[in-house]
Amino acid sequence: MENNETGLWTRIQAILKAEIGDHAFNAWIQKLNFKSIEDGTVLFSARTPFVRDWVRRHYADRIRDLWSREGGKVFSVDITVEKSSAGQQTQSPATARGGEVLTDSFGSVIDPRYTFDSFVVGKSNEFAYAAAKRVAESKEVPFNPLFLHGGVGLGKTHLMHAIATEVVQTDPKRKIMYMSAEKFMYQFISAIRGKTTVEFKRQFRTVELLMIDDVQFIANKESTQEEFFHTFNALVDNRRQVVISADRSPTDLAGIEERIRSRLGWGLVADVHPTDYELRLGILQSKALNFANTDIAKDVLEFLAAKITSNVRELEGALNRVVAYAELTGQAISIDMTRSVLQDLLRANDRKVTIDEIQRQVSDYYNLRLSEILSARRARDIARPRQVAMYLAKRMTSRSLPEIGRKFGGRDHTTVIHAVRKIDDLRRTDSTLEDDINRLSQLLEG
Ligand code: ADP
Ligand code: MG
Repeated sequence: MENNETGLWTRIQAILKAEIGDHAFNAWIQKLNFKSIEDGTVLFSARTPFVRDWVRRHYADRIRDLWSREGGKVFSVDITVEKSSAGQQTQSPATARGGEVLTDSFGSVIDPRYTFDSFVVGKSNEFAYAAAKRVAESKEVPFNPLFLHGGVGLGKTHLMHAIATEVVQTDPKRKIMYMSAEKFMYQFISAIRGKTTVEFKRQFRTVELLMIDDVQFIANKESTQEEFFHTFNALVDNRRQVVISADRSPTDLAGIEERIRSRLGWGLVADVHPTDYELRLGILQSKALNFANTDIAKDVLEFLAAKITSNVRELEGALNRVVAYAELTGQAISIDMTRSVLQDLLRANDRKVTIDEIQRQVSDYYNLRLSEILSARRARDIARPRQVAMYLAKRMTSRSLPEIGRKFGGRDHTTVIHAVRKIDDLRRTDSTLEDDINRLSQLLEG
């Protein structure tokens, strides 16, 4: 990099700072790394795609103009994202620990963030967690295979990596292998092409703990299934631990041969269920600790736990986005800001539960007619379920208070606020009500 180019960039930065103010300057321009000028293009790098896109959209033209005005021959500005950006959520696992890479016995990278400690346990996953922990801690084979199943983003891969991490640390000599079923297939196919199937088979023969992730991937892939089954049987027969994950139970694995499905169910089958509100809040609180320098109010976490119900991956992504936005714009994290940053995500999660469904479910649950819930009647046995329904509408949809009021027979938004507060208070002391609400939330989410 030429010194005069650097000098030019310093000058342009000063001009920009005066133009856009300290705050925006620190949030965006200062985060750019000037790299070089090539063929009339100024090259910068940025830490995240978010910064890159923002600068491209808002400042790139201005930077180019100033560059020309100050005497540089520049026609365009280009920004790339730095590859190994330690501390970012998008980092590759290999760089997470300053170069020290955790791998299985065959060199596949284990994500060091996925440990038993960082896994938050709740009702929906405690069984799977306990089973995984048992596998990681046992010298013997406690059950074979351990079959983990559940919807996407609920922690199956996390638990498998946690097993690997723990075994690598406590028993480094034990030969473990973690592999996605997809990778298994590709390796198998290229072994066939390269006529190295003997090698391929041999690498598994020495494995003491084999983990195959997302086994549903080999549905309808007959020769891969055959090979997988062969490997599986060989290991199980030799009392080697096998852990399998899939997005559904062994019996529901369509496209996989009956004898394989049935064999997969012989050990311990543990499912991870969709999360409930309490677990989501716990996960958010634990992830929020990673942002020690950012103040995230409890009500924002509660808001996210209530609204992002799809899966933990989206929940984490939502928190990361809000924190990144706050960091970059200098805004405090509030519910309003969260709502606007996550518009698209909230809408997608919203589709699942509507106010109509809540009203129907609540009236069923309390043996009332829908018309009674919507009526003006104030008898306690109708008014309380109505308040529960309003409360759930507030918690489970992203409708505003006036919208909710309107949907409940044209009530005022203050009535909704009152209902939400009332139920919030009662939940703490009335365990029957607390159970009702948990049950209803499950019914609605499920
Ligand atoms: P799956 O393999 O079931 O699709 P993952 O294990 O990839 O899901 O989980 C998705 C993301 O959610 C990961 O970042 C993981 O760390 C996180 N996650 C899932 N469940 C939990 C949990 N109980 N506690 C903490 N993080 C979790
Ligand atoms: Mg997974």
